[in-house]
Amino acid sequence: KKCLDRIKKTRHLNAYITVTEELALRQAQQAEARLLKGVPKGPLDGIPFAVKDNFCTENVRTTCASRMLIDYTPPYNATVVQKLLDQGAVLVGKTNMDEFAMGSGSVDGLFGPVRNPWSYAAPYRERTGASPDSDWVISGGSSGGSAAAVASLTSYLALGSDTGGSTRNPGALCGVVALKPTYGLVSRHGLIPLVNSMDVPGIVTRTVSDAAMVLGILQGRDLRDSTTVPTPSPFTELPEDFDVRNIRVGIPKEYHAPGLTAETRAHWSRVADWFERAGARVEQVSLPHTQHSIVCYHVLCCAEVASNMARFDGLEYGHRSRTDSSTDAMYASSRHEGFNDVVRRRILCGNYFLLKKNYQHYFVKAQKVRRLIADDFRRVFAAGVDVLLTPTTLGDAARYHDFTQEDNRARSAQEDVFTQSANMAGLPAVCVPTALSRRGLPIGLQLIGPAFRDRELLGVARCME
Ligand code: GLN
Repeated sequence: KKCLDRIKKTRHLNAYITVTEELALRQAQQAEARLLKGVPKGPLDGIPFAVKDNFCTENVRTTCASRMLIDYTPPYNATVVQKLLDQGAVLVGKTNMDEFAMGSGSVDGLFGPVRNPWSYAAPYRERTGASPDSDWVISGGSSGGSAAAVASLTSYLALGSDTGGSTRNPGALCGVVALKPTYGLVSRHGLIPLVNSMDVPGIVTRTVSDAAMVLGILQGRDLRDSTTVPTPSPFTELPEDFDVRNIRVGIPKEYHAPGLTAETRAHWSRVADWFERAGARVEQVSLPHTQHSIVCYHVLCCAEVASNMARFDGLEYGHRSRTDSSTDAMYASSRHEGFNDVVRRRILCGNYFLLKKNYQHYFVKAQKVRRLIADDFRRVFAAGVDVLLTPTTLGDAARYHDFTQEDNRARSAQEDVFTQSANMAGLPAVCVPTALSRRGLPIGLQLIGPAFRDRELLGVARCME
């Protein structure tokens, strides 16, 4: 009830697309009865959670923040949602996002932008003299609603999706823990795809230990997602005796990227120094293909988008236009009316990259470079480095009015510079909030680890809290 109440009080954040009040109260009552009898379903029994609106939820509208799916009510739950419900967790709502998870700001969805809760907090207001009504800052994205939900205490955990950084980016800007697990560790069944070869369900929580517990529940083989693998080590809790002195921390020199603010760079070195003082071995490493990563990501992303979005033709799925002069005209206008221009642009680019005459030059080339990017990471980890410490975003959250200026739109792609190579390589990565900027906004740093070493990664992350 407190969470539902808070959702009402924080409506101005626009973090939720749908609030499942009745369902939540019913589930909470059942949980309460179990807890009173002393027979909880699991460690999450009765705990409120929120889910990004691109995960299917049975009998609860799932829109992807798009006119295309405005009336879509799935008949089933995504595996990750079902696993949380099976533990007794209580669904409070579906969170706001960029349309079809394309974006880094949560400013491009049908339901309007998500406001970062820190816009209304004392540090930002006092240090900048900002007025929250005109100077509010973005939540980051595309899972901005999930990060804002956890940061504003309307839910204890939230599911996001992470294809190029969409869970970690808003995690950093909203000051919450955001985990992108290893590709294949957590089922994508029921997550409406953006880029199938990179999508991973993301976990947003207040603490690293909570993220570990949720990962323990969500991970594991799912027959409905053929890319999942059996769980390497079942766990719900992190080891108590973790010793920083035993680890090697790599600082990738290529991550001193253009656009990185002096403040975030200074904070990054402070945390690296802290690791060193605590006894870890901190060393500079090189990931030479990083510079090609954003371009490759966009070729591969658009190519998969062009293919994925073909299903939304107004017949089998989605919005159907009234134009019915021919089947082709109906397809075309359904798609034109249903998708925003970010989605349409990616479909057009993807189809261009996949044309017979372009396929080798763009798509195949990008796949080859993707392998080189993954090999860079493999080499560094094989040489004994345990984790990489990097920034998550270029700086703290931008004002909405600045972020949405036409000439800043390209910045949106730049925002993924530190995050999307972990998706290209399928590696686990976690963002931990570690400081407040001079403007009174959160700064989060990222740790990237070897595939399927999510538990060890979270062990290191916990030292940074
Ligand atoms: N910003 C990236 C994009 O727009 C990442 C999106 C994501 O991770 N879902 O493609």
